[in-house]
Amino acid sequence: MSVHIIGAGLSGLACAVRLTNRMIPVTIYEATEHAGGRCRSFFDNVLKRNIDNGNHLVLSGNRQAMAYMQAIGSLQSMSPPLQAAFPFLDLKNGEQWLVKASWKLRIPNCSILDLLSAFKLAWAPKDLTVAEALNTSRPIFRKLWEPLCISILNTAPEEAAASLLWTVFKESFGRGAQACKPCIAQQGLSKSLVDPALTLLRQNGSNVRFKERLKSINFKDGRAVTLIFGHNQISLKPNDTVIIALPILATGALLPGLSCPNQHRSIVNAHFVLPRTITDLNFIGLVGGVSQWLFVREDIASVTVSAADQLAKKTNEEIAKTIWPEVLLALKLDNEPLPVYRIIKEKFATFAQTPEQLLLRPNAQTEWPNILLAGDWTDTGLPATIEGAVTSGHNAADAVR
Ligand SMILES: Cc1cc2nc3c(=O)[nH]c(=O)nc-3n(C[C@H](O)[C@H](O)[C@H](O)COP(=O)(O)OP(=O)(O)OC[C@H]3O[C@@H](n4cnc5c(N)ncnc54)[C@H](O)[C@@H]3O)c2cc1C
Repeated sequence: MSVHIIGAGLSGLACAVRLTNRMIPVTIYEATEHAGGRCRSFFDNVLKRNIDNGNHLVLSGNRQAMAYMQAIGSLQSMSPPLQAAFPFLDLKNGEQWLVKASWKLRIPNCSILDLLSAFKLAWAPKDLTVAEALNTSRPIFRKLWEPLCISILNTAPEEAAASLLWTVFKESFGRGAQACKPCIAQQGLSKSLVDPALTLLRQNGSNVRFKERLKSINFKDGRAVTLIFGHNQISLKPNDTVIIALPILATGALLPGLSCPNQHRSIVNAHFVLPRTITDLNFIGLVGGVSQWLFVREDIASVTVSAADQLAKKTNEEIAKTIWPEVLLALKLDNEPLPVYRIIKEKFATFAQTPEQLLLRPNAQTEWPNILLAGDWTDTGLPATIEGAVTSGHNAADAVR
């Protein structure tokens, strides 16, 4: 029996790692020259630094992501801080606060009752949006619920599914401070989530083939029979399984007629070289401006803006000129001129996580008995995040007979 995994993003890698740990060797076929997909590091020729395609944050309560890192031996590289604390700054008025996973709320003008209002998400019907479930006129909405909704679901609260946000709250805040610690890949995403997986897979006899784009699949008698790549094709044996761990658009092109979400939301990341190394700040949430999260690694400041379809339409220069003054404010730096920057627009960052789009998510099994699906957009019950991608890979691996 052979298992062919198409796509070396986190879902494909997590699937491969789980199968090789069960002594089932796999072959991964990846279209590009690198693994990691939407979650990876690279050397940027303009900044002359290693950067991540976008800031990624994982919570210590993300069980499947932690199990994956445990399996590939990289858990230490993403070790959480002692405290479950999220600093915030209001760019409009300079107000600062620290959100801690405790009942002692320290958000200005917010009470314990405001915090308890999160439970409205738990009972929200499947078709309710976050803005419909929560009271948008309370200060806590702008200071906490809105930034969390946008960063977790990459979808504005006015259209994001309330029930999906609750799954994250339940698994993190619902399990106490230990599950809410923010974990960041200090050495970059690839060192924590990608490279150790490739090493492990090769050591265990699995094969990772780059520059192998799956172009089409031939079917006969209700089964996939041939995988067609650019230069070669693979005839499937009766016991072979194909796991398609690709983004939505690529999967839809290979499997016409498959039900899948059809709307996406963008994420824009802006990376700047700072005049000096900053050591006293890892990340901070920003409200009241365009920037939403600022991450700092040595002398690189990286700003994330999610649900950023409008921003993504602007030129890179316009985006940099908008965001740089907010970086200066957040880092309390003097009026430095715009430095070298890199803008990365991920137009198809995730699917739009609205109640309607959630209904279109397929699960791992397909109508073809020898094809399984993985990917953050499949029906894991979780948002399209690292935790969702890894869970989808684990689900597909568990479905291999
Ligand atoms: C900017 C940004 C910021 C994010 N921030 C966070 C965050 O803070 N926390 C979090 O948990 N999640 C975050 N996410 C989401 C997270 O990155 C994704 O959920 C996850 O990486 C998706 O993994 P995947 O394997 O499902 O898909 P992908 O990463 O898209 O992997 C699919 C792979 O398939 C390959 N491929 C495509 N077509 C073919 C083909 N025909 N043949 C062969 N290979 C092909 C691609 O090259 C790619 O390597 C963020 C995403 C983005 C874009």
